[in-house]
Amino acid sequence: MSRHPFRNSVVWLTLLVVAAGSVFASEPELVNIKAVAPSIHVELRYAGPRNIAGRPLYVSEMPALVRPEIAQQLAKAQEILRARGYGLKIWDAYRPKGAHEQLWQYSPNTDYVASPAEGGSLHTWGVAVDATLVDAKGREVKMPTDFDDFTPAAMLRYAGPDATVRRNLRMLQSAMARAGFYGLRTEWWHFVSKSWQKYRAVTTSLEFAQLPAPTPPSRAFNGAPGRGAASTR
Ligand SMILES: [Zn+2]
Repeated sequence: MSRHPFRNSVVWLTLLVVAAGSVFASEPELVNIKAVAPSIHVELRYAGPRNIAGRPLYVSEMPALVRPEIAQQLAKAQEILRARGYGLKIWDAYRPKGAHEQLWQYSPNTDYVASPAEGGSLHTWGVAVDATLVDAKGREVKMPTDFDDFTPAAMLRYAGPDATVRRNLRMLQSAMARAGFYGLRTEWWHFVSKSWQKYRAVTTSLEFAQLPAPTPPSRAFNGAPGRGAASTR
């Protein structure tokens, strides 16, 4: 089956837990968001088929990982939202570089996905998350679009007629801004820590957490240069 030495074994999971937890003593590069803020809901869309690729890009057991500082910022956003009877659900966090490259194959459009050739995604730095709003029972509330809806309806500024959607989006954006995150013009669910410039790409190797790419890729790279430097998805 898979030629990958870690796949379908408990070894990779053990390594992942080590990397995600606190065994790297003083300064782990990445931490599990659930370990820092257990009430945050997690449903990693690239661990299943409900994404633009229509298939998992990393293993189903993948934890939601970010830099420790970013986990603290998420905990703050969660505290703000919980006081109002709501909470965060994380759709994507740290994304292994190879998984991001596969995502680029499906959506080679720098409005929505950062070009790997131009530095890649801040998800691979552990400083960006995709998040939505849930109610006190963890149920997703009405938002402008579903995840990975790469259409104008996913713009940061909601232009539709639904007052509930507008209110929900504003609540999410306000909590995330107060906790230290920027939004992104084209994807209402994407947030980047204002501390992002302190960091670089994650060096802890979690590439084994991603699944191998199908061959050949279903869509060819169209060569569009896009807006390059502004890409952070
Ligand atoms: Zn994102």
